[in-house]
Order: sequence, then structure tokens, then C-alpha cells
Amino acid sequence: MWADLVLTNANVLTMNPSKPHAQAIAIKDRKIVKVGTSKEIKPYIGKNTKMIDLKEKTVVPGFIDTHVHITGYGKSLKEVNLRGANSIKEIQKKLKNRTQRIPKGQWILGRGWDQDHLTEKRYPTRWDLDKFSPNNPVVLTRVCGHLCVANSQALELAGITRETTPPSAGQIDKDLKTGEPTGILRENAMDLVWKVIPEPSEEELIEACSLACQKAVEAGLTSVHWLTSSPAEIRVIQKLREQNKLPLRVYIMVSVKLLDHLIDLGLHTGFGDSRIRIGSVKIFSDGSLGARTA
Ligand SMILES: [Zn+2]
Repeated sequence: MWADLVLTNANVLTMNPSKPHAQAIAIKDRKIVKVGTSKEIKPYIGKNTKMIDLKEKTVVPGFIDTHVHITGYGKSLKEVNLRGANSIKEIQKKLKNRTQRIPKGQWILGRGWDQDHLTEKRYPTRWDLDKFSPNNPVVLTRVCGHLCVANSQALELAGITRETTPPSAGQIDKDLKTGEPTGILRENAMDLVWKVIPEPSEEELIEACSLACQKAVEAGLTSVHWLTSSPAEIRVIQKLREQNKLPLRVYIMVSVKLLDHLIDLGLHTGFGDSRIRIGSVKIFSDGSLGARTA
């Protein structure tokens, strides 16, 4: 059998403990058919085989991310990135930049701040955000995703006041002196703002997920366990494939709230094919350590 592609002169790390190193790889019909020494690969080289001399570069098996929120990541690529922010001032500066570039009233979403890394050593408040973005609703999620800070306009649109009772397993932080909400919403209380943020269209979701998949491939991933929490997300994965925008193998990890639907349909883990199949179920019973919701 002749291979379509042969990689030679490589430092192949096989992850096979009995034979950890190899020099060459033969590929046929998009599948690896042989890994071994240059000599062992020779019989696979025909006149139509494409050869690539890797000049001793390292080759590793494709990485598999076993828990990734591709949809959320795709959306976040369009959000204000607050990872690594080391002060509330820095958050405000980034917020100001974004506010200046968009019309009044448009939602501003951001993510990635961590109060432990802020020089002020406290959570940002609605008032910190109001200063630089008084006319746009703003929601900035903590790095863990279990807590966010909303500005006054976002709180108003969500109908959150000092009288609001938080949903179960949620908390609305209040100022100790005045009793006013500080803007910090924990766990299920975040849903109060999420539900008033306009949903992206399917096209927007496809675009965001396609971008996220590209980034995943660039980072060396070949398979992802993609957490889905709505039928729309599962539809998007299929659409991506139809449109040739799915460069990864996908295991659909379903949120526990979708589990009954799958059971009703008689679907279980493994249903699908080599590109898209149903994987595991995500269940969590408390929260995260950083947000102190666990
Ligand atoms: Zn998760």
C-alpha cells in the first residue's frame, strides 16, 4: 500500500510507552497507517506519495481538549478581554475604549477579570463601570464564569433593584450601608441579566464558533469535548460541518438540563460518527472556588 503523504526526518513522540520515538509517519486516506523508522516507512513510498522532510521537527499526536465551551469562547473573542487586568483602572480604560467605538445603548460584554490580581483587591462595582460607560449596559464576567459585575443600566434593564429577591442558588450583592445592589451577581443571579441580553442570530453564532474552531486548531487541538447547553448550539455544530467550517472532531458534551431530551429520543453516548458524536454529560452541584460560590 502506498501512502498519500509521508513525513520523514521527524522527531515523532508517539505517546506509546513501549515505542516512544519514531522518525517517520505514513498517511493514507487521511489516516495514519504506519509510524516507525525511515526504513520501516520506505515500502509505503510510491511515485505519487507526497514527501515532507520535517528537518527533525517534533511531531505529537493531536491534542484533545476534554472540556471546552467553544460557543462561549467564540462569543468571547468579540468581547472585551479582561484577562490579566491588574487594576480596576485598567478595566475602566478598556471599557472606555470599547464604549467610544460603539453606539449608545449597545450591550458591552467582557470577561476575564480576577479580583485577586487587582491592586484594589476588591470586586469592581456598578459605579466603577458607570463612570466610563453610563449609556451602555455593561456586564463583565469574572475569569471563572460564576460571577459578574453589571453596571447601572444593565441592572435597570434586568429589573434588579434593592428589593429584588435573588433566584435560588444565586446572590445579588448589596452595599452594606445603603442596601443598593453593588452590581455583583453570583451564579443563578447572573441569569437575570443574561436573559435580557439579545441572543445572537444563528449566523452570528456560526461565525463566532468558526473563529473559535480556527483558534483551537492553531493551538494544536484536533478533537474537542464541546459543552453545549442549548439545542441552538448543537444545531450550530451540525451547520458548521455542512458549511465545511468544522476542522475538529467534536464530542458533544451536553448540559444536564438537555439530558432528558436525549433520553426521550433514545440517544446515548457514542451516537454519531467519527466527526461528531455524543459524548458525556456535564453536571455540577455547587460552583467555583474563586467566586466563592462552591
Ligand atoms: Zn464547563
